[in-house]
Amino acid sequence: MKNLIVANWKLNPTTQKEAKSLFEKIKKGVSRIKNAEVIICPPFVYLPLFKGLTLGAQNCFFGEKGAFTGEISASILKDLKIEYVIIGHSERREYFGETDEVVNKKIKKVLQTGLKVIFCIGETAEERDAGKKTEVLERQLREGLKGITKEEIKKIVVAYEPVWAIGTGNNCSVDETMSSVLFIRKVISTIYNRGIADNTRILYGGSVKSDNSGSYIKNAGANGLLVGGASLNAEEFNKIVKSAE
Ligand code: PEP
Repeated sequence: MKNLIVANWKLNPTTQKEAKSLFEKIKKGVSRIKNAEVIICPPFVYLPLFKGLTLGAQNCFFGEKGAFTGEISASILKDLKIEYVIIGHSERREYFGETDEVVNKKIKKVLQTGLKVIFCIGETAEERDAGKKTEVLERQLREGLKGITKEEIKKIVVAYEPVWAIGTGNNCSVDETMSSVLFIRKVISTIYNRGIADNTRILYGGSVKSDNSGSYIKNAGANGLLVGGASLNAEEFNKIVKSAE
């Protein structure tokens, strides 16, 4: 199983020129990488501009088509040859009111359309301080995966992203990440079975930089990384990819 490094550009950069330049620099930098898979998730409008690396979208709607102003469907993404869609990112949950139920509908739609899902889960600082981390992770997993079959789960990558670690510079320790990754595998094994749990890729995300990235893969049992801020700097991102080889 190759490690997976996902670049989530969020709402960046502002111009096509910057987006193309960043993409080309990353593409050049990772061209010799053999043992890690790289996925670039830019804002929707830049997706058709890029060729040569696997692409993912940062979100999509659960409906197919029609009167849904402002939305993008999984079918539109499929037509653009996009392979992955990030679903359930904490910023979608926090700023756009996405509930576990909405996340579940989106996951189903993306899978039915034939794309793969990067399914984000993670506890907030308040939930962690209240000792509710595992309860939250289990609820997000069980609700998000409701009705997802043993065949379909093979098309899902789970990203463990503690909300308090995202964009804060306060990355989760390797030990804590390891225990969360183990817990996530345990829940997946309870929902499905041990074999499926062992074969599900679980990523870590939250203030990953090139000086901490390798340890999540080597010591925390993560099968890759979801990188936000650091993916906007090609040199830094390429170092992160190299550390995951
Ligand atoms: C993210 O956007 O999922 C993320 C992990 O961001 P950052 O790397 O900036 O913390």
